[in-house]
Amino acid sequence: MIHLVLLAIGLAVAYIVLVLASPMQNCPRCKGTRIDRTTGRIRACRTCFVTGRIYRPGARMIHGLYWLIVRYLRERRREEPSTAKETEK
Ligand SMILES: [Zn+2]
Repeated sequence: MIHLVLLAIGLAVAYIVLVLASPMQNCPRCKGTRIDRTTGRIRACRTCFVTGRIYRPGARMIHGLYWLIVRYLRERRREEPSTAKETEK
């Protein structure tokens, strides 16, 4: 059971790294061609809004979390030199 949990965490971390490295993927509907042919008629693909690329699932959330963590670490680093300051009683 614990192995399954570790596997799931490993896959999640791998996916997060993948999303951070490349948050976009080719649109699965038009395969990057921007033309939706699945209905038999040719028309602009609305899944990717005619960009041919879409965000991977969870990309916005993962990048939001990533920037939250980066901002938090920056704030902490900025506060570190002032740790010599005495804390009040
Ligand atoms: Zn598309």
